[in-house]
Amino acid sequence: MSEKKHIVIIGAGPGGLCAGMLLSRRGFNVTIFDKNAEVGGRNRPIRLGKFVFDTGPTFLLMKHVLDEMFELCGKNSADYLDFIKLDPMYRLLFSDRAVNVFSDRDKMRAELTGAFAEGSAGYDFYLQQEGKRFEKLYPCIKRDYSSLKAFFSLDLLRALPGLALNHSVFSNLGKYFNEEKMRLVFSFQSKYLGMSPWDCPALFTMLSYLEHEYGIYHVKGGLNKIAAAMAKVITEQGGLIHTDTAVESLLIKNKVVTGVRLHDGSEIIADEVIVNADFAYAMTHLVKPTELKQYSPEKVKKLEYSCSTFMLYLGLDTCYDLPHHSIAFADDYSTNISNIFHNKILSKDFSFYVQNACVSDETLAPAGKSALYVLVPMPNNDSHIDWQTVCADMREQVLDTLETRLNLTGIREHIECEKIITPQTWETDEHVFKGATFSLSHKFSQLLYWRPHNQFQELDQCYLVGGGTHPGSGLPTIYESAHISAKLICRKHGVSFGLAS
Ligand SMILES: Cc1cc2nc3c(=O)[nH]c(=O)nc-3n(C[C@H](O)[C@H](O)[C@H](O)COP(=O)(O)OP(=O)(O)OC[C@H]3O[C@@H](n4cnc5c(N)ncnc54)[C@H](O)[C@@H]3O)c2cc1C
Repeated sequence: MSEKKHIVIIGAGPGGLCAGMLLSRRGFNVTIFDKNAEVGGRNRPIRLGKFVFDTGPTFLLMKHVLDEMFELCGKNSADYLDFIKLDPMYRLLFSDRAVNVFSDRDKMRAELTGAFAEGSAGYDFYLQQEGKRFEKLYPCIKRDYSSLKAFFSLDLLRALPGLALNHSVFSNLGKYFNEEKMRLVFSFQSKYLGMSPWDCPALFTMLSYLEHEYGIYHVKGGLNKIAAAMAKVITEQGGLIHTDTAVESLLIKNKVVTGVRLHDGSEIIADEVIVNADFAYAMTHLVKPTELKQYSPEKVKKLEYSCSTFMLYLGLDTCYDLPHHSIAFADDYSTNISNIFHNKILSKDFSFYVQNACVSDETLAPAGKSALYVLVPMPNNDSHIDWQTVCADMREQVLDTLETRLNLTGIREHIECEKIITPQTWETDEHVFKGATFSLSHKFSQLLYWRPHNQFQELDQCYLVGGGTHPGSGLPTIYESAHISAKLICRKHGVSFGLAS
């Protein structure tokens, strides 16, 4: 590069930070703006007194993808982060049984044999078949789909049979398992994408496969440490991160993005702008409505979105006997799922997830105390539920349910501090369109070439990273979105992506 090109990134979420890290390593001048006081976006910490919680992500899947991003910067992730592999990975609670899910194959076979009449017969076939599918699909996930030419690739042709277009994750699992609850053990992961296992495309059966193949990790101090580590790498490489600095709009001339306007009115000129703010929020708030066709505000509103979540972060003066991760299914799981995704109403009988990370990480709360993270999947804001009105009642229902389903007796007396995030606050405070915490839905017509392209198709000098773009929501795929965009920018400016010395 004859002269250093200036890259402006809107948002210091996982996508923006990863792109910033890769590009600053390759000689670009990187400047990141984030509206929040701290980096990380939905992956940043929440601090309540001496208690620390992750705001969003708590499961690190495919750790090797994160490792690769550090290696691409000549760094070793272990020099920045203290990883803890969890085994059991999590406990699943049905109304009539509990299942501990292990990445250790022998322990998992024994657990399935103890919990289900059909035993572990289908487990090995499932691992073998889904492993084959994953090997064919992953190259497609790593590709750029910015043009139709890029779409029609040999990789995709090889993967086509594995897409199983006429199947959902749940129906696909019928090949291996008979009992409904057995299938739920391997399909509830579609919730990671904010989708129902009955609607989620079969290719995402790979989510549970990935857990069993590569395991689930926690990071000491919380997954928010990953964001902090990426920010550290960026500054070590000369990049700049401005927190508490909101971007008001993209500067656009004849469909070319030339920089950004900040909230204080100042204009920052850039050679390329990378948008990490939630895609649908960005299209409806940072660009004039008349500027876009395919993603005009009307069309963006009509796209399909993931579910939302009601979050309760509790600083407790005690430590309950609970595993690191517990997932409890509603007694009537399919009705709960329909209420979230189709009827868009609240359920009295709801599924939920609880993280009690203090059992593996003593840094998150003072000695003898614990930081409990509770996530309840909810309809996104298409529901028009008035969360200010229902929030207090929902809190009581969640606490009652923790008492009855998890035996957290007297939990109310142990609460020292707490914070709630509702679907409404995801939208207003976190800039998440419709409060859809896992961004655009991952239905087939919103994947690959049909998901917003990493090289944004409507504006030049504009790239997209994060959960709302290709390949999709979830930390590993978000890092891949940054990887793809960084490669495209390097190619455009004649910079070799291979690691420079
Ligand atoms: C509750 C929850 C649980 C999750 N659990 C997991 C999990 O266990 N594992 C997993 O892999 N994934 C999980 N995810 C999904 C995903 O990993 C995270 O949501 C991730 O943080 C999304 O990253 P991102 O880069 O797309 O954007 P974000 O994290 O949303 O970051 C976008 C950034 O843009 C900034 N921004 C927005 N507007 C502006 C503006 N106008 N000016 C400046 N800055 C702006 C925001 O402040 C934010 O920092 C979870 C998500 C949630 C919400």
